[in-house]
Amino acid sequence: MAIREIVPYTDKFLRKQSKPVSSFDEKLWELLDDMHETLNASEGAGLSAVQVGVLKRVFIIHINNMSIEFVNPVIIKKSGEQYKKEGCLSVPNTFNYVKRPQTVTVAAFDRYGNKFTLTCEDWTAVCLCHENDHLDGILFTDKICVPPKGKAED
Ligand code: ZN
Repeated sequence: MAIREIVPYTDKFLRKQSKPVSSFDEKLWELLDDMHETLNASEGAGLSAVQVGVLKRVFIIHINNMSIEFVNPVIIKKSGEQYKKEGCLSVPNTFNYVKRPQTVTVAAFDRYGNKFTLTCEDWTAVCLCHENDHLDGILFTDKICVPPKGKAED
């Protein structure tokens, strides 16, 4: 395993569209293992493959002692709204409010190609939407907003 270099927001590479994974092979597992190591070495809660220079539809999240891998994820349901301050390993020292759904359901594959669906809420839903945006070249800084009165959370 190895810690990989994080692509900074100034690099146009982050704006590229990631491509679906077609082989659930050792190359994918090595990527995922390296992504876990890279995320563990940082303060982040999530990391997408594009952030380590690989245009594959893959991201991981580390939240509340959970470590989850998503391959070819698709958000299939969203409800509610929340406003939390987000940051990004590719955008150092920047934290701002973004509007996200309160609850999201995602369909994805694990590293072996098994399909699963997962419903998450609160911070986990924020993180999942943030990482999923990376796969389409979208950064949280594109979505910064002023929360309505009384809706801002830290
Ligand atoms: Zn990010």
